[in-house]
Amino acid sequence: MIIHLKEGVSQSVIEEWSGPLKALHFKKDDRSVLVTETSVKEIPAGFQTYVEESWVFDNDIQLASKKYIKEKREVRIGDVSIGGQTNQTILIGGPCSVESEGQIRNSAEFIKSLGLTTLRGGCYKPRTSPYSFQGLGYEGLMLLKKMREEFGLNIITEARDATHIDEIIEHSDVIQIGAKAMYDQGILRACAKTNKPVLIKRGFGTTLKEFAQAAEFVLSGGNENVILCERGLRTFETNTRFTLDLCGVAWLQEHVNLPIVLDPSHAMGYAYGVPSLAKACVAMGIDGLLIETHPDPSVAKSDASQQLDHETFAKLLNELKPVASAVGYSMI
Ligand code: PEP
Ligand code: MN
Repeated sequence: MIIHLKEGVSQSVIEEWSGPLKALHFKKDDRSVLVTETSVKEIPAGFQTYVEESWVFDNDIQLASKKYIKEKREVRIGDVSIGGQTNQTILIGGPCSVESEGQIRNSAEFIKSLGLTTLRGGCYKPRTSPYSFQGLGYEGLMLLKKMREEFGLNIITEARDATHIDEIIEHSDVIQIGAKAMYDQGILRACAKTNKPVLIKRGFGTTLKEFAQAAEFVLSGGNENVILCERGLRTFETNTRFTLDLCGVAWLQEHVNLPIVLDPSHAMGYAYGVPSLAKACVAMGIDGLLIETHPDPSVAKSDASQQLDHETFAKLLNELKPVASAVGYSMI
């Protein structure tokens, strides 16, 4: 159950009741919000007097549910908005990994030259093998920060685990939680304590409910700025890297109140399929599209096969504009 308390209810009343109700609580504007287990269906008699409004749920998708907030939430990333009623698809570009100052500056110049706002690059890479490039870590984060200052771009980078979450929260405009890290309680709880936007990628074996529950960890700590990102599931098929779950996206659009970003690059795994998949994504009326692009994909230190070269990326942006406009959206 979600319970909005009346304004001015004291902290001691909240403490007194959140114990027996087993409720998490946080402040939303000037009022306190309590979220209980879903088994709670009724407000205890003595507590009723403090309650302004309440919502009952049959499963653990509560704060992220459209039964609570009907309209899609709007999240501010610097001076742009994602989600809400903006009807804009933000194209987020950049390389899989920050590799050197020259490479990330080239990428930043390119993103800026297209009139886009957001540069993404990984610094703490969650690699499957310990022998592959693991990312530049803090040095990479400082390079992204420099690009933000030089080009006025918003930056997104991912947290691999909780050991470096604080520096990412400090320096990144959006904290990306990767597909392998989305169950990491240390990361989720740290992200719940900040107001920075958090982009949660769906694990490749994660149900839609578990995906939304990861968002609930952040939302129930009081951070309302959560964005979901579908990036492909593992299926029986091995010819493509993963299988992009567009059915799942339709389900999220119907039931969940968070902005949705799609990542066809990691789903497909091969550059040749990314442009057509990207068009299918944009045709669904989505809030963001994440595409990996590298100045020279052939020498990329991670995900080389799926990154678009700059020429292909620029051409794709032009091809996406009429697709977006056909569904009442614009690419920004
Ligand atoms: C990435 O975004 O570069 C990445 C590693 O993605 P995912 O977490 O979806 O595998
Ligand atoms: Mn990648």
